[in-house]
Amino acid sequence: VYNFCSGPAMLPAPVLAQAQRELTDYQGHGVSVMELSHRSEEFLAILHSAEHGLRSLMHIPDHYHVLFTSGGASPQFSAVPLNLLSSGGAAGFINTGYWSQKAMAEAARFGRVVEVASSADSAFKSLPVWLSGFQTNELDYLHYTPNETIGGVELFEVPELPTDTPLVADMSSCILSRPFDVEQFGLIYAGAQKNIGPAGLGVVIVREDLLGSAQAQCPRLLNYQTLVEARSMANTPPTFAIYLADLVFQWCSAQGGVPTLAKHNLAKSDMLYDVIDRSSILFNDIEPKARSRMNVPFFFHDKNLESSFLAGAQRRGLLNLAGHRSAGGCRASIYNAMPLAGVQALTDYMIEFENTHV
Ligand code: PLP
Repeated sequence: VYNFCSGPAMLPAPVLAQAQRELTDYQGHGVSVMELSHRSEEFLAILHSAEHGLRSLMHIPDHYHVLFTSGGASPQFSAVPLNLLSSGGAAGFINTGYWSQKAMAEAARFGRVVEVASSADSAFKSLPVWLSGFQTNELDYLHYTPNETIGGVELFEVPELPTDTPLVADMSSCILSRPFDVEQFGLIYAGAQKNIGPAGLGVVIVREDLLGSAQAQCPRLLNYQTLVEARSMANTPPTFAIYLADLVFQWCSAQGGVPTLAKHNLAKSDMLYDVIDRSSILFNDIEPKARSRMNVPFFFHDKNLESSFLAGAQRRGLLNLAGHRSAGGCRASIYNAMPLAGVQALTDYMIEFENTHV
């Protein structure tokens, strides 16, 4: 079975096998990781290993803190403005579609937001263009979504402003999929359920100088300063999810690290777009240089074919290929854990389906 779900997504098979082996007896301790005290030596070793694993995969410098948080990515839509947006300032947003708009709408609850770039004119099918009428120096930070999971649009260039405005990125669906230079960012956050581990876990990478200026109303558990001081344990952390994330980070390094994963991801997405572009019944209408390597939406010219395509896919063990409810069509999410053989099985099926339906 190959699971093309956009999230929660498939995890690497060896990670699940190890978790299964250790489920009831973690390394001879006689208890499950789920039953370990979060203050125990054993769990602190897991937390340390997970942080170290992510730091080494992403080359995170020492003046950045790594936090493991609860609630996935969405709480960061509130936490980022609560921590970084001042009363006289504004938050700049690059509007590339669904997820950037979610982040922008939430930030607007806590202060002024300014749309500084947008791809609305192309119905979010191309790279965004800068808009006029904003002052760079009024921005407390600039937020963008390097990969729009639903739209299937990815920004391969990091946006640059002439000022040293901190850049904030929602990397939920592209973290660890290709190299990023962490020093270009003030803050990076991600929900875990695509390239890291189980849903409900979040990861925040925050630069030291951005701590300590949270709004007075900022809840304690969303305050990065509090979370840093408590070393991700301001309340009971999602221990089992952190354990799985640690195993996924180890798996990523064993694959050869992020550069190798990026090479695999390029090969997988090229294979899929190639078959879609050659097809006479399917299309993907995203500007080619903005096509996502993680989430590949595709549509039938004749919508009537969609349901039999999806049913046939399901019968072959190619799961969760239906598009997002807001977008329709189909979508294949091909994160790090999806092997090339999975994409090959999908493209074989696409070709066979076309041959029997033209
Ligand atoms: N940001 C992006 C880019 C996403 O793809 C998602 C979920 O798919 C989210 C945020 C929301 O994540 P969560 O459901 O963990 O809050």
